[in-house]
Amino acid sequence: MNRKKLGALACVLALVCALPAPEPARSADARAEVTMDDPPLVALTFDDGPRSSTTGPLLDGLALREAPATFFLVGNRISGNEELVRRMAAEGHQVGIHTYDHVELKGLSRKDFDLQVGKTRALITGLLGDGNYWLRPPYGLIDEKARNWCGGPVVLWSVDPEDWKDKDVDRVVAAVVENVSDGDIILLHDLFPSSSQAALRVVDTLQARGYCFVTVEQLMSQRGVVPEAGAQYRKIN
Ligand SMILES: [Zn+2]
Repeated sequence: MNRKKLGALACVLALVCALPAPEPARSADARAEVTMDDPPLVALTFDDGPRSSTTGPLLDGLALREAPATFFLVGNRISGNEELVRRMAAEGHQVGIHTYDHVELKGLSRKDFDLQVGKTRALITGLLGDGNYWLRPPYGLIDEKARNWCGGPVVLWSVDPEDWKDKDVDRVVAAVVENVSDGDIILLHDLFPSSSQAALRVVDTLQARGYCFVTVEQLMSQRGVVPEAGAQYRKIN
């Protein structure tokens, strides 16, 4: 078994064996210590897809590395990419909502909110069945009304390499691996080939450091955080 496979297996074992009870606050020193019993956790999240030319190869790479992630979908990109969405769920990834037209949620009427979030939820539900599909608001912006309407947790992020800016794989990888710590939620966009490549290099680098990749839902579960509708989450540790 090669090192990559061994690392992923250690992750699975550690997560399966970990108790679901809340953990007490730990010191920075304790967080820095990497052991199989208590691996640092990190959640990769991908916004703005799906896009067959980039999301497909990304799913291939994540499967090879046994690294689950979370995909927040733009509703108007689902048509024609249904198999990709089914594949995400079948391969253990978490699927969430990123509005239908990638619009800012602040200030929307209830009707417009439903056309953006409710319509996307209905599309995902039609493909994957009933579930609580969590929300990532475009630009990270959401007001109290929209939080009350969304019916699930609002997932923000704690590490943003701004992968859309220059699409420079080396810079994006460095911006993540030099800033990441236990419990981080990393923001990337699976629209860009450079982001898919960067994500897989991030997985390789951080798995070699002992990190386990989990979905946002798994991250919260492992840390004993009960997801609340309308609450916003950035980092879970
Ligand atoms: Zn977005």
